[in-house]
Amino acid sequence: MNRIAELDHRYIWHPFTQMKDWLREEPIVIISGKDSTLEDINGNIYLDANSSIWTNIHGHNNPYINDAVIKQLNKIAHSSALGLANEPASILASELVSAANPDTPSKRLEKVFFSDNGSTALEVAIKLAYEFIRRAGKTESPRFLSFQGAYHGDTIGAVSVGHIDLFHKAYSGLLFKTDTLPAPYCYRCKWNKAEPERADARKYRRCNWECIRQVHKQITEQKERGAPYSAIVYEPLIQGAAGMIPQPQHWLRQIAEIADENDILLIADEVFTGFGRTGAMFASHREDVQPDFMALAKAMTSGYMPMAATLTTKPVFNAFLGEYEEFKSFFHGHSFTANQLGSSAALASLQLLHSHECTRQRQRLISLMAEEIDGLWNLPAVGDIRREGLIAAVELVANPSTKEPFPYEQQIGLRVCKALARRGVLTRNVGDVIPVIPPYCTTDAQLRKMIAVLADAVQEVCAV
Ligand code: PMP
Repeated sequence: MNRIAELDHRYIWHPFTQMKDWLREEPIVIISGKDSTLEDINGNIYLDANSSIWTNIHGHNNPYINDAVIKQLNKIAHSSALGLANEPASILASELVSAANPDTPSKRLEKVFFSDNGSTALEVAIKLAYEFIRRAGKTESPRFLSFQGAYHGDTIGAVSVGHIDLFHKAYSGLLFKTDTLPAPYCYRCKWNKAEPERADARKYRRCNWECIRQVHKQITEQKERGAPYSAIVYEPLIQGAAGMIPQPQHWLRQIAEIADENDILLIADEVFTGFGRTGAMFASHREDVQPDFMALAKAMTSGYMPMAATLTTKPVFNAFLGEYEEFKSFFHGHSFTANQLGSSAALASLQLLHSHECTRQRQRLISLMAEEIDGLWNLPAVGDIRREGLIAAVELVANPSTKEPFPYEQQIGLRVCKALARRGVLTRNVGDVIPVIPPYCTTDAQLRKMIAVLADAVQEVCAV
């Protein structure tokens, strides 16, 4: 084993990883990257088919972003946002506000609170919403809603609005109480209305929006009980960590209408979906929904730096204005809030994202992805194939006719990812769902390879 792998084994505790399994095998040690590829210490080249956990959109070692960061590095890496402004963060905030308010939105997101990662972006939104509602005199104890299968990060507030038992249940004693709404998972529709047609798995002819009616019922009943809900946290268009589960068209629009009718604030978690991943700059806008809070991270810096932002409206901002001695400030912040290196990477990334070339390339890849991934329907164990923009995923099941999952201990998803890695493609399974989430600079040939190799890996692991 090489020295770096040895050091890793001796000292590093990896996220979301059974370390007993990890310590049995020599890890892949990444030493460099270029565009959609990563190179390991032994000179092996891999395709980065999950954009380094959904963060990298313009490729590794991108000359334009590198240049912007280096220029900034030659000026200063970081100064505190406590009591000081800085150049790239101020410009970035104005660019984010322009991007988040296309045309004439129903609400304008006009203020930007910077933090470090997706979880902190959600924490900020939750705390601001909580206190805004209280200061508006609506209730002393605002109640939050989020969806089945929701994942919003790993800090305690973000976990409180999360609903994946495997990750969250153990910590229930530490969390504040939130209620769960049913989320659409059409492949396993609770009301059994799904009739996926293989070419377009989201045409459900018998669907009568039972899941929306349930949301409506739950919210109105709670209001009648005299303890109405105050805010809904949602992942727009697709739930990522739940297993890449897309929402049917108009689902989010209807949720927003119910929220509006019931005076409920919307917190959009665009940590995964933001910055073009679903086709639009921000996924909520594809459904004509403008939230009260928008949490951004991951691709904001094109995966270069840990940096995040929470955007919100003037009314929210104004609720925290007051005389010094009124103690109305938002008492929250992080050492690296509004970091200059992160801001410069984010600004360069946004410029690339706005370019015609990037938009054209993304649209082309989205079409190619649809063609290629649909070729996998006839493989063994493929239960469902799901797509949303430049996100694709295959759900593997023990029995495609009954949709029966594989026994957990078989670790099918993990084994398929290992088979992919042996063939030079890296992605990270979500249970038995295998995502393909490439950077936008991926070439057609590279995308074709990702899918072809996925087919081989599924065949190797799942064929009887
Ligand atoms: N929200 C969503 C939708 C996510 O997918 C993630 C991370 N996968 C987070 C929040 C948390 O982001 P981070 O890991 O940067 O804290």
